[in-house]
Amino acid sequence: MSTNINDHSNLPDIQELERLANEFFKNSDGFSSPPENAFDAQPKSVGGSGISPSAIEQGNAVDLQNPQTGFADANLDPSRSSSGLDGAYAGKLSPEAPKNLQQLPYQDEQPYELELREVLKHLSGINIGAQIPFGAAPIEKPSFYFLNEPSPFILRPDNRAAGATGFIPPFDVNTVRNDFPILQEQVNGRQLVWLDNAATTQKPKQVIDRISYFYEHENSNIHRAAHELAARATDAYEGARKKVKEFLNAASTNEIIFVRGATEAINLVAKSWGEQFLHAGDEIIVSHLEHHANIVPWQQLASKKGLKIKVIPVDDDGQIIIDEYVKLLGPKTKLVSFTQVSNALGTVTPAAQIVQLAHGAGAKVLVDGAQSVSHMPVDVRALDADWFVFSGHKVFGPTGIGVLYGKEDLLNETQPWQGGGNMIVDVTFEHTQYHKAPGRFEAGTGNIADAVGLGAAIDYVTKLGMGAIAIYEHYLLDYATPLLKEVKGLRLIGTAAEKASVLSFVIDGYKTEEIGSILNKEGIAVRSGHHCAQPILRRFGVEATVRPSLAFYNTCAEIDLLVNTLHGLKR
Ligand code: PLP
Repeated sequence: MSTNINDHSNLPDIQELERLANEFFKNSDGFSSPPENAFDAQPKSVGGSGISPSAIEQGNAVDLQNPQTGFADANLDPSRSSSGLDGAYAGKLSPEAPKNLQQLPYQDEQPYELELREVLKHLSGINIGAQIPFGAAPIEKPSFYFLNEPSPFILRPDNRAAGATGFIPPFDVNTVRNDFPILQEQVNGRQLVWLDNAATTQKPKQVIDRISYFYEHENSNIHRAAHELAARATDAYEGARKKVKEFLNAASTNEIIFVRGATEAINLVAKSWGEQFLHAGDEIIVSHLEHHANIVPWQQLASKKGLKIKVIPVDDDGQIIIDEYVKLLGPKTKLVSFTQVSNALGTVTPAAQIVQLAHGAGAKVLVDGAQSVSHMPVDVRALDADWFVFSGHKVFGPTGIGVLYGKEDLLNETQPWQGGGNMIVDVTFEHTQYHKAPGRFEAGTGNIADAVGLGAAIDYVTKLGMGAIAIYEHYLLDYATPLLKEVKGLRLIGTAAEKASVLSFVIDGYKTEEIGSILNKEGIAVRSGHHCAQPILRRFGVEATVRPSLAFYNTCAEIDLLVNTLHGLKR
């Protein structure tokens, strides 16, 4: 079915949806099918079936022209300021303030939510079942172990993502897509289909606006001056740190260090903790799945210090072989560094188990979360990793900003890796006293605006709900996998039982870059190449794959287009 996702002409108004929702729920337990006319009234969805699940199930009358999924920004709360310039910034948000400052794009109460709440209040107390986006049977219980949250389509007043209002809007891909301006882009005369999310994700308007707002109203260096803009910029930057802390469920903001990305975070640990605590003969364990960013820094350290690197093997589906891992652990193991999700195969590793076994052997553990944070809820305290790293650009935030989480005591006993301004308490020509974490690892002027943008991205995904995102993407993966397998000559690389969002493949008789460029003609962006993970591709006997990778704004209709184009290859 061909669907124009910009055509909202038949979107019913809120009263009509409320009437339909009431009619439906009057005689329903919430899990049976809605009445036929309810489907007629829905917007043409971007899903394969043309049905928008949350709209049907919850009477979700979203104004697609004005979706208003903006989220409150703690930094813009007039009651708080770290400046000591009492009320100065807050005054800008008072009723007398200029209109542009009263109407910020990050306000808590938005018309869409108010409207939706109005509809949903009639339905409170009802467990609303999930209607999956492509018209198959509802999935009541997620089948993947990391999808441990309840259905995103069930109201969860006690969920921490809901914030003070206790209200989470249902996930609706139509609405979500409208937040991403680039998804309307034309490529080769076709609407862009962005399936290169493992390389980088697209940015919602909320993130773009937040960064513009920073440069228009807040830009200054941080922590240093007593003037108003320094206070605003510091508040914005430290506000973003707090958001990251909550996103990862870290114990303290002192455990959150802003860096350039996952690569820099791993290098930081290698060049600070590794330099200080590892000695000749010590062993580092990585898995066969690793991105080069989690191999090369350890190799560099190993050749400098005489360390040994050992590799956890994977089976033919691309799954970590735990028994083999256990055999590698020993008294010389000082570090286990592994990825939570493979960027090349999509394998979700049994991270908590790997961490626990490493700790049992007395080793420290670094978890590479570059491919996990955008696809599943992450809780660093539950995971118990000593360090956890991720990049902002892979979680709908800007490039050039990322995070190193580390346990506070460990960070404070580790020497800094770079010296300069911002990271010191006192400097004489004889001696320097360093700040505690996070300051000791943030020498010089950091990427302030993009840290703030990352905070906005975290607000955005938190509002959608990481559990909801994980489940929706799981539906997409389940939809795409069998369809791809039907393409003649196609071999999926990476068939783990626990997978997230990546569909790597090769096709007999075609070079991966040929397929990439044929898809590009249809406006479909996929990565073709070695994905900076050569060892794992070679484990499967290939040098490169085509890698469509999914995000929550992708749709079954886009997957249909991908699969149809691949069938066309053989015709
Ligand atoms: N680790 C994994 C698993 C990745 O997929 C990537 C990037 O693709 C990285 C690390 C490096 O991330 P960045 O290039 O943002 O530093």
